[in-house]
Amino acid sequence: MEKKYFIEMDKKDPLKEFRNHFFLPKNTIYFDGNSLGMAPKITKKRMEHVIRKEWGQGLIRSWADEEWGISGQRIGNKISKLIGANDGEVIAADSTSINIYKALTATIQCNQNRNIILSTNDNFPTDLYMMQGLQSFSPNEVKNKIVNKDEIDKYLDERVAALLLTEVDYKTGEILSMSEITKKAHDKGILVIWDLSHSVGSIPVDLNKCAADFAVGCGYKFLNGGPGAPAFLFVAKKHQEKIRPILSGWMGHKNPFDFSIEYKPADGIDRFLCGTPPLLGLIALECGVDLILKAKVSRLRQKAVKLSSLFIELMESMCSEFDFKLVSPRDENRRAGHVSFMHHSGFAVSRALASKGIVGDFRAPNIVRFGIAPMYTRFQDIFDAVNIIRETMQSDLWKNHENDISPYT
Ligand SMILES: *Cc1c(COP(=O)(O)O)cnc(C)c1O
Repeated sequence: MEKKYFIEMDKKDPLKEFRNHFFLPKNTIYFDGNSLGMAPKITKKRMEHVIRKEWGQGLIRSWADEEWGISGQRIGNKISKLIGANDGEVIAADSTSINIYKALTATIQCNQNRNIILSTNDNFPTDLYMMQGLQSFSPNEVKNKIVNKDEIDKYLDERVAALLLTEVDYKTGEILSMSEITKKAHDKGILVIWDLSHSVGSIPVDLNKCAADFAVGCGYKFLNGGPGAPAFLFVAKKHQEKIRPILSGWMGHKNPFDFSIEYKPADGIDRFLCGTPPLLGLIALECGVDLILKAKVSRLRQKAVKLSSLFIELMESMCSEFDFKLVSPRDENRRAGHVSFMHHSGFAVSRALASKGIVGDFRAPNIVRFGIAPMYTRFQDIFDAVNIIRETMQSDLWKNHENDISPYT
């Protein structure tokens, strides 16, 4: 395949203008939009306005005048359109980890005579850590069970209160069947918490079609909400009024400004707020969400499938002699927004690529992960990237990176 072919693909791409909405990093082909999305230009403009006018001039009046006070709800309603939820079922707030804790404790309240929380050993670590924190606080009420993904069915029984799963595997990009698993769990009276961190803004999600119970997700990945952006929590309408939030902060109170001593939960999704909303972070998140809504997830997904399939095809034809082994599903229907390869020296390879401007991720022990974010990744980037990967691997210089210091330690 020649570069011409890829440039033609870009010309025909209905989403091509969206790339211009971002600050583009120099000399970089960015494959980490699933870890930290790129910065939209509109975010800078909107933040400047908020800081100068709303904060600078309006000050405390802006909580009401500029509707700061309901921004978590407003953005939650926008996110609900990306994940098949209704208005009033999603709130943008806190981090994913904190929202997992809210959901976990809520499931225990909803399923009072059960005490097992089930998850998988390939789940994202923070999900498992939050479970461990909860169990350590109330070891009699909560017993964690961590099993292999392919064994889940075996453990679905009437002792299990909740099943906590991540829809898209953070290492391999494999998509679990949300509808099938939710149904199987419900047949045993088990509530399901879906972590949508690598799903939202990348693949179509339809929570209510699956009769889902709880979901959480991340704001700084495909939503391009900025580093440490607020996350979101979905609680199905049918469960909301049964839950008395454990993280019962004043912003989730029915009348926070009564300053009464007694906690009384607000109606609906508002009760899942805890403290004062991080307004600047929320505004940045909203800019990212607006862009995704404009691009439309269905179109983003179509483009991502083409990009990632071409990437796999090129890697396997041009880099076949370099010991990369595809660990993402080959079936595009089971593969979400990133493509991962196993390589025995994955760390050195990813460091060498980073030094050539190919920014992806390394996931221990040996996975090189390439996030495909179709808002700004072009077809020609795929062609260029694989060519650079080939050049890098051909010159043995990449081996000099074996002893690099990890940027994360
Ligand atoms: C990125 C990610 C998170 C992030 O959690 P934070 O508390 O927001 O840092 C959680 N779960 C999964 C599956 C993720 O991929």
